[in-house]
Amino acid sequence: MGSISLRDLSKTYGGGAIAAVKSVNLEIEDGEFVVFVGPSGCGKSTLLRMIAGLEKISGGTVAINGRVVNEVASRNRDIAMVFQNYALYPTMTVRQNIAFALELRKFPQAAIDERVNEAARILDLKELLDRKPGQLSGGQRQRVAMGRAIVRHPQAFLLDEPLSNLDAKLRVQLRAELGRLHQRLGVTTIHVTHDQVEAMTLGSRVAVFSRGTLQQYDTPQKLYDAPKNLFVAGFIGSPAMNFLEGTPAADGLVRVGSAEMRLRAPLTGKQSGLVIVGVRPEHLSWRPREEATPGALAGTVDLVETIEPEAYVTIALDDPAARVRRADEPAANGMASDATAGSAVQRIQMRVSARAAPALGQKVALVADPDRIRLFDASSGAAL
Ligand code: ADP
Repeated sequence: MGSISLRDLSKTYGGGAIAAVKSVNLEIEDGEFVVFVGPSGCGKSTLLRMIAGLEKISGGTVAINGRVVNEVASRNRDIAMVFQNYALYPTMTVRQNIAFALELRKFPQAAIDERVNEAARILDLKELLDRKPGQLSGGQRQRVAMGRAIVRHPQAFLLDEPLSNLDAKLRVQLRAELGRLHQRLGVTTIHVTHDQVEAMTLGSRVAVFSRGTLQQYDTPQKLYDAPKNLFVAGFIGSPAMNFLEGTPAADGLVRVGSAEMRLRAPLTGKQSGLVIVGVRPEHLSWRPREEATPGALAGTVDLVETIEPEAYVTIALDDPAARVRRADEPAANGMASDATAGSAVQRIQMRVSARAAPALGQKVALVADPDRIRLFDASSGAAL
């Protein structure tokens, strides 16, 4: 069936000047729903297009079911691609749009009818088969595009940002439909998106990319709990993980400015220099300053955004020695970062129940859950 294997897969443009995809290795099992996610320009579409056969491969191999397909034409790869803009034929009815690929392949009419009706039933399109795309809503058009892919009974679906053009509510609805459809059909699916929420809800495994390089390929839970580096830690999760510069101290403590954070286990002796302490907003808790435990991080509430039933609280740190690192800041060479050094206000975010949020301007003391603190090497960005 539809397993997909990428070995050292690379793509360069401009005679080698632009490396869009850098030596990617990835195994997708038959029936898996895998999401490629990363910021714009990280190479995820190029990767998908190489798998689809729409883009020439510069190096490495793509194998489908164990067969290397580098030199196999797209139409012979037995995969179906769904694009962001659906690319429906405006003058054809829904039925004709869905049937088109089968007609091209000279399927007998009875088989075409059977498959179109099957797809229409699965996608709830029966009532719409005689309409033209112009008479459909965005969500319905999206389903027709899926119908065109389904009738081919492909080994795999390749979905390139299929939800990006939809409004927020429809996106959530169609995201759930895609998930259900996959459970029903069990066909290997690769879904490309820049939206980490979409990735985390849909993927059985998620591949996170940055600058053409695969950063981590794991289950959503692993990506959230154990990001392998600062990039993944900052990209997955919303609001993003807070990063603070810290120095390991004795007995399982790490010093952040003049505060001390307790770790679950002491760091091994090797790590003596600067580290980056990662704490997700949901793993911080607060007390009024006067009730503070010694060593807590002191701050003043700067902004409270209530998104019922939660509140995202931005806190300006009062300790002039505390240093926050931005999620997208490249790992510095082991030195305190320039961008946040000096007089700039250092802010971190906390996510709490709206009922338990501090007030604007309140002086608070923050404590991070020792089990959830993540540490990263300050120069390489790798998880410790
Ligand atoms: P993503 O899908 O993650 O947004 P792409 O795969 O579209 O990223 O692009 C990856 C990189 O390759 C980008 O830096 C982009 O500018 C570059 N790129 C894509 N297509 C071409 C092309 N035809 N010629 C030159 N550079 C390209």
